[in-house]
Amino acid sequence: MPTAEWILTFDDGPLAADVVDVSGMSNEQMLAPLRSILDTLRNQADGAIKAVFFLRGPAYPWPTPPPREVFEQGVQWMLDEGHHVGLHAYEHRPDLWQKWVSHADQIKRDLDQCQDYFKPMIGGDDLTVFRPPYGQGGIPAWVWAKENGVKYQLMDIDTKDWKHHPDATFRRWENDPLGHRDHMLGTLPSRMWFHTLFPGANDFLFHVSERTAGFLRDLIDKIGQSTRDLGHEPSYVVPPEYVGTK
Ligand SMILES: [Zn+2]
Repeated sequence: MPTAEWILTFDDGPLAADVVDVSGMSNEQMLAPLRSILDTLRNQADGAIKAVFFLRGPAYPWPTPPPREVFEQGVQWMLDEGHHVGLHAYEHRPDLWQKWVSHADQIKRDLDQCQDYFKPMIGGDDLTVFRPPYGQGGIPAWVWAKENGVKYQLMDIDTKDWKHHPDATFRRWENDPLGHRDHMLGTLPSRMWFHTLFPGANDFLFHVSERTAGFLRDLIDKIGQSTRDLGHEPSYVVPPEYVGTK
């Protein structure tokens, strides 16, 4: 059976994208969804899967920034388990990234700030791979990446695990987690088949969130099963263009 290479990527960590109010939560509680995702990736029957995490800084949507030590702990867990990290945003504000035409300078400043915030957590080197929030950021984000020697990676296959996020335009599955799970599992194969036709690795977009943590095992099982149904053997990889440090 030919191999289909998949890359699992997670945006918005180390904190959960679907938990906005973290007041009164302990560091462990804030990091519980990430902990669960890391455990699921490690405890796979065919061996641990290495993933790529695109990191979100401590600004929007929190009224008070969560403490730096939570981010340090989360990033350390990712690295300890052999995953790769890249930049996502310091401030994940929809208007900033979606209305990029009028926010070029702010976007570049945001990415500088994101780099400065996270690079001490990986040992002081620049992070060298980047995915923009909402797939937006347009020309300013692309130019920033080019000028800073950072690889710009959009996603290939959207798992739709964000369709309940507080900043999603249509929060279709906000109050229906099981419906959301069935929607994701039901629509994944039709989004995957196209990508099995081409050689080379394709990436899946996930998010660090409570909901994704709850359904990740089901989603990975479905990806494996659908790949075999499409006549391929799944192989989980992190190609050089997704490795986040020099
Ligand atoms: Zn994001």
